[in-house]
Amino acid sequence: MFLKSLEVFGFKSFADRTRIEFADGITALLGPNGCGKSNVVDAVKWVLGEQASKAMRADKMEDVIFNGTESRKPLNVAEVTLTIANENGLLNLEMSEIAIKRRLYRSGESEYYINNTPVKLKDIRELFWDTGVGKTAYSVMEQGKIDQILSSKPEERRYIFEEAAGITRFKVRGAEAERKLEKTEENMRQIEGILGEVK
Ligand code: ATP
Repeated sequence: MFLKSLEVFGFKSFADRTRIEFADGITALLGPNGCGKSNVVDAVKWVLGEQASKAMRADKMEDVIFNGTESRKPLNVAEVTLTIANENGLLNLEMSEIAIKRRLYRSGESEYYINNTPVKLKDIRELFWDTGVGKTAYSVMEQGKIDQILSSKPEERRYIFEEAAGITRFKVRGAEAERKLEKTEENMRQIEGILGEVK
């Protein structure tokens, strides 16, 4: 699995539709301060479902939409598409290429797509479970992240090992099953109460 390309439109400083192709090996982004290098990394985190505006270095999520310059009007939508090669089938979809798209309108409405089919954020999260890719995974190592990992709580560090070991999906499904079980037990108690009254 590798990142093939990133297409950005209306996201932060990218007022024009911009496509970045990632060749084999290492890709380096060079440019003067403030030209938008970190915005490219933000776009990758954002399309993978980042929900915290702080992680986007913004006060609120709408601030990721291009807010205009002296010579250009603000836009009303931000859109990022990340295309991933999946020839080895690491992502659990029988497709050799997978395009993840996220769109956000100024109204606050947001949309997610996998290969142009509308999906929920949950579907994107599930697709990347246990792959090491995703907003909380270890695939994006920003400045200070290694320090943060070394100084974070043991439980937080354990999350990284669990993700690498591929057990996150089982933990999440286990927690979901426990919630359903609790709800079912609550329903059973209510039914028993009603039956007791009827008898
Ligand atoms: P440095 O080398 O200093 O870290 P950089 O190349 O990583 O800089 P970024 O932090 O990616 O730069 O980009 C900052 C630029 O993005 C600023 O010029 C800022 O005005 C612009 N920017 C951020 N959000 C928006 C937005 N919503 N609309 C328009 N421009 C934006």
